[in-house]
Amino acid sequence: MIQTKGYAAPAAKEPLAPYSFERREPRDHDVAIDIQYCGICHSDIHQARDEWGGSAFPMVPGHEIAGVVTAVGDRVTRYKPGDKVGVGCFVDSCRRCDHCQAGLEQYCSKGMVLTYNGKEYDGTPTMGGYSDKIVVNEDYVLRIPDHLPLDGAAPLLCAGITLYSPLRHWQAGPGKRVAVIGLGGLGHMGVKIAHALGAELTVLSHSLKKEDDGKRLGADHFYATSDPDTFTRLGGYFDLIINTVSAELDWNQYLGLLKVDGTMVLLGIPEHPVPVGAFSLIGGRRSLAGSLIGGIRETQEMLDFCGRHNITCDIELIPIQKVNEAYERVLKSDVRYRFVIDIASLQQGG
Ligand code: NAP
Ligand code: ZN
Ligand code: ZN
Repeated sequence: MIQTKGYAAPAAKEPLAPYSFERREPRDHDVAIDIQYCGICHSDIHQARDEWGGSAFPMVPGHEIAGVVTAVGDRVTRYKPGDKVGVGCFVDSCRRCDHCQAGLEQYCSKGMVLTYNGKEYDGTPTMGGYSDKIVVNEDYVLRIPDHLPLDGAAPLLCAGITLYSPLRHWQAGPGKRVAVIGLGGLGHMGVKIAHALGAELTVLSHSLKKEDDGKRLGADHFYATSDPDTFTRLGGYFDLIINTVSAELDWNQYLGLLKVDGTMVLLGIPEHPVPVGAFSLIGGRRSLAGSLIGGIRETQEMLDFCGRHNITCDIELIPIQKVNEAYERVLKSDVRYRFVIDIASLQQGG
């Protein structure tokens, strides 16, 4: 077994603390990775605090993993020691269902194996990237373009693909008016990627505090949703709205900003159900949709796209000892725009 050091939440709502555990030795098709950086996704906080129910503890969160291959199993063909790689939100799926066959492993009929807070199909609990090593089947490992810095690339593995997938699916591009609600970890990737795809991009943020950043990241327009004029001014304007906010917003108000046939895609996951009035949809043949991360093939496509366009995340690098403080700041929207843990800090002990 491989001795692994990390940080875990011992129980719901308790602070994360140092935690040691074991990972399997690489099997024939496995890749062993030294983790160098791991992003902090808001989903880590939802799960560490058991806000979605069913969390398993102790929990080592982290699904925005970037590192370097240290060893490979005998039958691995695609990776070798020294390669720069990433691991995202899942580490296995059934491979046989229609969705897996179509490269949509995130919708696997048997249920994908989450990178953490999940179970391998043999029942072993999975542990995530707030740790120094991970062992993953090569089919679920991604290649990070060599020239991208690993710290800024780590959050592409969740925040990047979660925005890239719906932007591509709903064909964001030249001539399309796209809005992103919430300029956080997910939202700022949406701005960069939509801009690179050639769409007209508007940020809808709770205030104008992040306006300069939004424009620098590539937004064409920036509006505060605390200003009621925003909703009258932009009525019927957008082809596509991507909602990254986990707070319970009035979705009906935002649906009114869509053109006829426009779509609002939910990415943020509120703790409680949110009411939707039928008229908000019927009144413009509008669609309300949702999207979950992205499949392996599309995640690789996104990484290559980001490589070509030199897109990485804007990050604040922190030692792992500051993870609990970072969680509090994420909850206050006080991060520009993703915390990334420098895993080397685990060697400092404590
Ligand atoms: P984040 O960095 O905390 O960003 C969320 C943004 O929402 C904030 O920056 C803020 O933007 C806005 N916001 C926060 N509280 C608000 C409030 N009370 N009212 C209005 N706006 C508020 O979080 P994230 O990591 O981007 O994740 C966002 C959500 O997506 C989480 O629920 C996460 O679990 C979920 N998620 C979903 C998927 C998926 O596959 N669908 C994948 C990853 C994460 P402004 O300051 O600009 O208003
Ligand atoms: Zn995530
Ligand atoms: Zn499947």
